[in-house]
Amino acid sequence: MKNTKICPKCSGTNIIVIQNDGHPDGTYGNNIQCKATVLSGVVFVKRYICCSCGYTEEWIDRENIDTILNSKKIIKL
Ligand SMILES: [Zn+2]
Repeated sequence: MKNTKICPKCSGTNIIVIQNDGHPDGTYGNNIQCKATVLSGVVFVKRYICCSCGYTEEWIDRENIDTILNSKKIIKL
């Protein structure tokens, strides 16, 4: 949905994205706390929403993947 701009569930094209507004407390969006300090250790998650059926996807920018991988809080499968 992020890349195609088309909902994989209903083929809708009215897609919006909700992203954090920069507040590490996640007041608008979604966060992953990766380090001890709130300001430097937060990775923001973008939420894509299909306005036709309500399906959502969450994506993390690739430049933030290493931050998550280096977090002591992750569980590798
Ligand atoms: Zn949809």
